[in-house]
Amino acid sequence: MNREEHVTREELKARLIRPIARELADGAQDRVVAGGLEKLIQNLGQPFPEVGRLLAGYRQMDVETRKEQLKKALELLGGQVAESRPQRLEPPQAVPGTRSPALETVSFDTPVEALNLGPGGRKKLAELGIRALRDLLHHYPRRYEDRRTLQSIREVEDGAKATVVGKVLSRELVKTPRKGLQLVQVRFMDAWGWKFTGVWFNQPWVLKQMPEGASLVLSGRVQKRGGVTSLMVEYFEDEGGESLSTGRIVPVYPAKEGIGQAFLRRAAWRALEAFQTIPDPLEPYLKQASLMPLDRALRQAHFPSSEEQLEQALQRLKFDEFLLLELKVMIESGGSALLGRVFRVTPEMLERFRAALPFTLTGAQERVLSEILADMQSERQMARLVQGDVGSGKTAVAAAALFVAAQNGAQGALMAPTEILAKQHFENLTRYLYPLGVSVDLLVGSMSNGEKRSVLERLKSGQTQVVVGTHALIQDGVAFHDLGLAVIDEEHRFGVMQRRRLLGQRPDVLVMSATPIPRSLALTLYGDLEVSQIDELPPGRTPVRTKILTQKTRTQAYAFARQEIKKGHQVFVVTPMIEEGESEATAELAAATRLREELEILLPDVRIDLLHGKMKAEEKDAVMERFKQGAFDLLVSTTVIEVGVDIPQATVMIIENAERFGLAQLHQLRGRVGRGGLESYCVLIAGETSKRTLERLRVIEESTDGFYIAEQDLRLRGPGELRGTRQSGMPDLRLGDLASDQAIIEQSRALAKAILEADPYLEQPEHALLKRELQARAEAIGFREVI
Ligand code: ADP
Ligand code: MG
Repeated sequence: MNREEHVTREELKARLIRPIARELADGAQDRVVAGGLEKLIQNLGQPFPEVGRLLAGYRQMDVETRKEQLKKALELLGGQVAESRPQRLEPPQAVPGTRSPALETVSFDTPVEALNLGPGGRKKLAELGIRALRDLLHHYPRRYEDRRTLQSIREVEDGAKATVVGKVLSRELVKTPRKGLQLVQVRFMDAWGWKFTGVWFNQPWVLKQMPEGASLVLSGRVQKRGGVTSLMVEYFEDEGGESLSTGRIVPVYPAKEGIGQAFLRRAAWRALEAFQTIPDPLEPYLKQASLMPLDRALRQAHFPSSEEQLEQALQRLKFDEFLLLELKVMIESGGSALLGRVFRVTPEMLERFRAALPFTLTGAQERVLSEILADMQSERQMARLVQGDVGSGKTAVAAAALFVAAQNGAQGALMAPTEILAKQHFENLTRYLYPLGVSVDLLVGSMSNGEKRSVLERLKSGQTQVVVGTHALIQDGVAFHDLGLAVIDEEHRFGVMQRRRLLGQRPDVLVMSATPIPRSLALTLYGDLEVSQIDELPPGRTPVRTKILTQKTRTQAYAFARQEIKKGHQVFVVTPMIEEGESEATAELAAATRLREELEILLPDVRIDLLHGKMKAEEKDAVMERFKQGAFDLLVSTTVIEVGVDIPQATVMIIENAERFGLAQLHQLRGRVGRGGLESYCVLIAGETSKRTLERLRVIEESTDGFYIAEQDLRLRGPGELRGTRQSGMPDLRLGDLASDQAIIEQSRALAKAILEADPYLEQPEHALLKRELQARAEAIGFREVI
């Protein structure tokens, strides 16, 4: 058929020599070639039966025999026997110009000019934001192509994908008369001498890149019709005589128009070659943290010698990303090593507290309480985040901690984001603590001056043991006698300065959040906080029954709502903004007002009121208070009801255009109902019914586990879109993935803490390099604004 053996024999030989030499250099471990060296020989070695015989049964040989046979095979093929350099990547063979000797003095800060890539090369790199060797080394491949064994197109089945090397024989541009398509058709011959046609649709410019005789690497789907083999080309590049582009696992870099892969590979290669050994900021910790040395990791990340090595290399580089992120957060918050108060905790104290509770703490509550108490007993200042769904019992746990503080003669404070929540907490804490003889006070803005003054006096004298309040707690003129424990509810509503001010006295700090965010995200966003999770609800709760409706069936939701209202129950209806308005609040208000008007017509006998984001805090509180009192039946609201106000009679939550909310947020909204022991319902109305939307909403329909939902939200939408977390400064990691790298995050965090414990500001000489990398790279990786 098409076989032209004389052309390809030398090429074939070259293709065989390279992997055999690398296998030898790798210590004959049979890990250089995917599927084993013998498979390669079977494919490529047909014209060289002696080589096939030498290496038959390769996998079963011991290492010494393998080496012998490899050397003999190389001699037969006329190749060089490479020296074994296990720690270093093998240089590609016979690539003029890619090997530059290690530079005399080179560091991460050395400008890329030192690599002699020419003025054009420097410009290209600058376009990608690459200026120093550091940037180039961390310009990681976007993906890899396995080109260790290039197939012959003959062996690929019809319809399968393949990557092959082909030499251009002839080319033409064909216009199909009927549909007006432009086809570029190029005749190629692969390395085995088989001919095929490469096809491009409507890309006439491709023609210019196909000079006759050029050798290209082509990927695409193979089509075999009759005796004709075609390749529908999806990706191609000029092999350019470059062994960086074939015969190995080949990196494919993020690039821009006009910046070729071959160039980027050469640049990365030269950057790696410029270093004798790439310095490692974590040198002192490699063993302790079982990390691959950075030198090896970077070389493997760019030019992997095997999948396993690549995997390990990426682990190391991800580790560094998270470590730098966490070091940065920890250093900026100044938190991790601060001395705090040492509380004494006795079993009797806890017994007294438990005995006075009207219920038994759940296992999760007990676990989190013991984590908190361990912090309180230690001499370090506590900084702990307690996450748990609404109603999981965070407040009860906080009450235990406040009780312990009071037993130690210290004062405690609980700060809530709104007055109505502060009052609710005040009632609850009074219920828990008053019977134990602990004095609890409330401080909110709406109190009369006289009332405020007397609370302030009691705070200052120490008469008040626990105070609950809003921002009023951190106004000027508030002075504690001895603040030992601060509990902050719904942390994300408080700004930086506010938290700092309350922390002025360095009390132990407990932050409570009902926005369940995945632990991995919490650890990165709140690197300075320990995280505890209450992942179990108290017994006897019936989960809120949840159903998805579409636009067509949405009135069913309101028919059902009317039935519930007839029973004396109450209904929430939440709407997101529908159109882009001047501002989010304006658009939401418009949507809510329209919905209210519609519902007043649909449900004439129902008392309806409205809550929206443009109201002042006091107005919102007043509406919620009246709803709680039963002054009306149905509350139309924008998303402002997220806060944890208890409306025990509310049994229905209807969410319009539910797809516009994050899953975590939907879950939180659903948590507004079912708080009074009544059977409760949540209806999600899908404004559109794409597969993606329904898949997301089904997570809510099927689960009531806030942490599971948050994980799914992260998986389906990515961290940037998570609501309830700071939008700005979300980590924008190059390699790391918050959804799947939890183990690495935990490890890097542990190391970051250990490092800062020994050297809080990275001033010791052994940390000089780490400090420099932190300054240079943390910005590039991206981090949140520090609390
Ligand atoms: P959160 O602060 O997480 O929203 P709370 O501490 O306010 O939760 O508890 C919600 C409700 O559940 C309260 O009425 C509380 O009395 C009750 N509760 C808390 N823990 C338990 C428990 N272990 N068993 C039964 N009920 C509990
Ligand atoms: Mg609460």
